[in-house]
Amino acid sequence: MILIDGKKVAAELREELKKKVVALKSKYNAVPGLTVILVGEDPASKIYVKNKEKFAKEVGMNSEALRYPADLEKALLKKIGELNKDDKVSGILVQLPLPKHIDKRKVIETIDHEKDVDGFHPMNVGNLSSGYDSSIPCTPLGCSLLLKKVEKNLSGKHAVVIGRSNLNGKPMTQLLLKENCTVTITHSKTKDLKAECLRADIIIAAVGIPELVKGDWVKKGAIVIDVGINKTEKGIVGDVAFDEVSKVAGALTPVPGGVGPMTIACLLSNTVECFKKAQHK
Ligand code: NAP
Repeated sequence: MILIDGKKVAAELREELKKKVVALKSKYNAVPGLTVILVGEDPASKIYVKNKEKFAKEVGMNSEALRYPADLEKALLKKIGELNKDDKVSGILVQLPLPKHIDKRKVIETIDHEKDVDGFHPMNVGNLSSGYDSSIPCTPLGCSLLLKKVEKNLSGKHAVVIGRSNLNGKPMTQLLLKENCTVTITHSKTKDLKAECLRADIIIAAVGIPELVKGDWVKKGAIVIDVGINKTEKGIVGDVAFDEVSKVAGALTPVPGGVGPMTIACLLSNTVECFKKAQHK
């Protein structure tokens, strides 16, 4: 069984990005800039934002984190409008989830889609599903890079995606279709999830239920990508029962150390791409 080392792949991607940033600096006399906005006091979000800022700086980008109290939607939208016009800012990310009373859709749609490094703006969602160039949501992008590490040619493979969120399941499905996979997308109303999984050459689990995918749900040799991050009594676990599944899978991502580290690396990669496109406008 191949243990897919997301930590290592993410570190390699950041090294590549570091070199790209140096090259961009000498070409344009400017570097990509990432602005991350945190609204409210969610403790997990605070950690994510801190890490995003830290890694962006590490690869040589300009990076700032802005913090807004939960009750200032108008000021937040105004600030996004200003960042949209700021040439030094290549990418804007508003950390989700937002406090409930803030209109998430309005916030996402206020971000210039050409600076939408999360790939959540409807223009990017539409472009991705139409097969056009777009910012791709970071976690599914990370999953597809990990998949490519173990299987270069995904054409004709049967992929089962568990979960249909806008964040993970839906964009993942689009990426797999782009690779000519035959894709089954499953969700909480799927009748027989085990039977669906057993037909899969590739399983992407993005559910949020600890160790949902059992060993006897997985075909021998299948590639299993575990997106889940679940806090349990025994610590952080994924959506896949690692010990059981590792006995049958051909390749598997661990949690932690699999998909998680890829998400930020892909965010930085999206920021570099947005910067490059902005230079050619
Ligand atoms: P989400 O928005 O809650 O979506 C969960 C999806 O799972 C929904 O589509 C839901 O179906 C489906 N589902 C729920 N119960 C199910 C069941 N019993 N069988 C089959 N499908 C079921 O979650 P998300 O934001 O996509 O996140 C999923 C997991 O990934 C979470 O553990 C989250 O922490 C983790 N995550 C990790 C990263 C990373 O960097 N590694 C990034 C983001 C999220 P319905 O649509 O029918 O409700």
